[in-house]
Amino acid sequence: DAKSHAPGTARFYVQRLGEQVRRRQIMERDLRDAIEQGQLSLAFQPKIELKGWRVTGFEALMRWRHPVHGNIPPVEFIPIAEDCGLITTLGEWALQEACRCAARWPAELSLAVNLSPVQLMAQNIVSLVESTLKTTGLAAHRLELEITESVFIQENRSTVQQLRGLHDLGVRIALDDFGTGYSSLAYLRRFPFDTLKIDRAFVRELLVSRDARAIVRNIVALAKSLRMATVAEGVEEPAQVLVLGDEGCDQIQGFLAARPMPAEEIRNFLRNWRDQRPVVPPSFQP
Ligand code: C2E
Ligand code: MG
Ligand code: MG
Ligand code: MG
Repeated sequence: DAKSHAPGTARFYVQRLGEQVRRRQIMERDLRDAIEQGQLSLAFQPKIELKGWRVTGFEALMRWRHPVHGNIPPVEFIPIAEDCGLITTLGEWALQEACRCAARWPAELSLAVNLSPVQLMAQNIVSLVESTLKTTGLAAHRLELEITESVFIQENRSTVQQLRGLHDLGVRIALDDFGTGYSSLAYLRRFPFDTLKIDRAFVRELLVSRDARAIVRNIVALAKSLRMATVAEGVEEPAQVLVLGDEGCDQIQGFLAARPMPAEEIRNFLRNWRDQRPVVPPSFQP
């Protein structure tokens, strides 16, 4: 009967929970075959330098098209892959595929690949990256690995050693989603990050909240004093670009410049960008 199915009843929540558990089981089962069946792909989102409004490179983002359930977002399947141990396989595939693509781009463009903290704990990521760079022919200085603050939640010596090992290869390391996770700043001293990515949450509030703007200003100052570059995530409006420029941020990423795109569209995108520079605010013309 309708009444016992209404939101707020115990039965409703038990049913919802049951659906979630089932969906999770299906995903875990199907994720195992997703690579072999060609259901995974990468989308690439550009990073734009504020000074000069040039494309500096692209971040690779995983996509999963399930044959029955359609597109499943990474926020849903990455945590499952981390829990069931599949993230190492998915991560290896993404790294290999992204480097293979980037090796064919103009040499001034960089590639960013997201790394799960689980990958840093579960495998020798230094030798994996080293061999992938070798087989794909991508120069180490063109690769940047993005990792979130959660990597430091479990004080793990080997994690820091692996990050140092990657750094020694000549690969750059970015701290992703900065400002939302783990609240201690001590790790900024323990590991030399090259880039801080300012989380979308602050950019979203930038035009309406003085506090958000103050936080962005201070993240940029902190980054500068530690010789790190800054990238603002989730930029959707031209006015945000102006504020970020005033605050001294180095680069932006977001739907304003472009949504993540398939590898085949990159060439066209770069050509159009050079010809039109469509969304550049006049004050940022070089
Ligand atoms: P992230 O690394 O912080 O990536 C940025 C996310 O923000 C992407 O979502 C991107 O599509 C989205 N985004 C970019 N610009 C805008 C904007 O202007 N507005 C809004 N609303 N969103 C924007 P996506 O692709 O769904 O990925 C979500 C997260 O999943 C990523 O966050 C990353 O943590 C994880 N992820 C994606 N691919 C991989 C991967 O290959 N390996 C690992 N370990 N994690 C991945
Ligand atoms: Mg990222
Ligand atoms: Mg991010
Ligand atoms: Mg983020």
